[in-house]
Order: sequence, then C-alpha cells, then structure tokens
Amino acid sequence: MEHVSSLCVYCGSSGRGADAHKSAATALGTLMGQRGIRLVYGGGRVGLMGMVADATLAAGGEVIGIIPTFLDEYEVGHTGVTSLEVVPTMHERKARMAELSDGFVVLPGGLGTLDETLEIVTWRQLGLHDKPVVVVDVDGFWRPLRELVEHVAAEGYAQAEHLALLRFVDRVEDVLPALARAPEPAVSLDAKWL
Ligand code: AMP
Repeated sequence: MEHVSSLCVYCGSSGRGADAHKSAATALGTLMGQRGIRLVYGGGRVGLMGMVADATLAAGGEVIGIIPTFLDEYEVGHTGVTSLEVVPTMHERKARMAELSDGFVVLPGGLGTLDETLEIVTWRQLGLHDKPVVVVDVDGFWRPLRELVEHVAAEGYAQAEHLALLRFVDRVEDVLPALARAPEPAVSLDAKWL
C-alpha cells in the first residue's frame, strides 16, 4: 500500500480495560494526527473509541465518526469530532466506515469490535475489497482470536492463505509499517477448494 490517508479504527466502547489498552488507543490517535491520517471510527466519545478520537484531534488530526441514530445517545456521540455522520442502521455504519477508509486497525474491544473485525476480513476474503486489516495485539489481548482463526483453518473451514489477511502486530508503532507492506496476498474465490 503506497499511501494511507484515512484509517478506520475498531475498538472497545468500554473504558474498563487495562491501562495498556488505553495507552495504545491514545498512542494510535496521536500517531494518526501527527501523520495527517484521518480517523474513521464509530463516533462515540466513550471508552477506547473516545480516547482514539480525542488523541487524534489533540494531535491536529481529522476525525469522522459514523454512528447509528439509536446509539447516538447510548454511546454518547462525540460532539467535538470534525464530522459526525448519523446513519439509520448498524449495517450502514459499517459500510460507510469501510467506504471512507484505506485500511483497518483493530485495538482491544468487545463483541462489537469482534463483529466489525471479522466482517471486514470476511469481505476481504470474498474479494469485496482489497484493503489491509491490522490487529494490534496489545499484551497478547488478541491471542485467543489468532488461535481461533488458526483453529478454523486447521479444521478445514478457512484457507491457510486467508489467515494472512488478518495481520497481527504487537505494538502501535508497528501499524504503519505493516500497512506499508501491503498489498497482501492476492485472494481469489476458488470453488475447487470448498
Ligand atoms: P464493543 O467492542 O462491543 O465495545 O463495540 C465497539 C463498537 O462496535 C461500538 O461502537 C458498538 O456500538 C459497535 N458495534 C457493536 N455491534 C455492532 C454491529 N453488529 N455492527 C456495527 N457496530 C457494532
């Protein structure tokens, strides 16, 4: 991947996690703001989501939040972002986040983060986009996810080459180099494999 101007970050709406996760969220936002990389995210001002957005803004970066109407109050839509788009549904939120981004970065998070991560890598597996997905495995937080995807491949339910579509890095500093190493393995649908 030659140039990244806009990155989507998936991460927890909770702020109850480890301090290392909060530091990673702040570090990623700061890095993006400093490098002039626009943040696209779920639009909340809570949890790690809010921390990434605040750090990007504090470092002079642009932030676009996409939030569904019904979550605007619950997740407390961030009023300080550059632009907050309120959309009708979760599906439109995810589609819009994907459309606006050159790649995807995953920090620690909960079920929503898992949903978003697995959906975007599934879309990649199906050839619906060719954007990289980088998972920041802060202190081994995502090791169970790595083991799960390796397990489904070992059991014959995913192709081994598709595992590389979910690129794991240990630190926020490794995210941009990992994105720069894209394009990742070419993926083509192969009915013969099924
Ligand atoms: P969580 O990791 O559960 O804290 O959720 C992170 C973000 O994903 C929050 O903004 C959630 O509202 C959002 N989210 C949860 N489930 C979904 C879903 N099915 N589609 C889109 N966003 C979701």
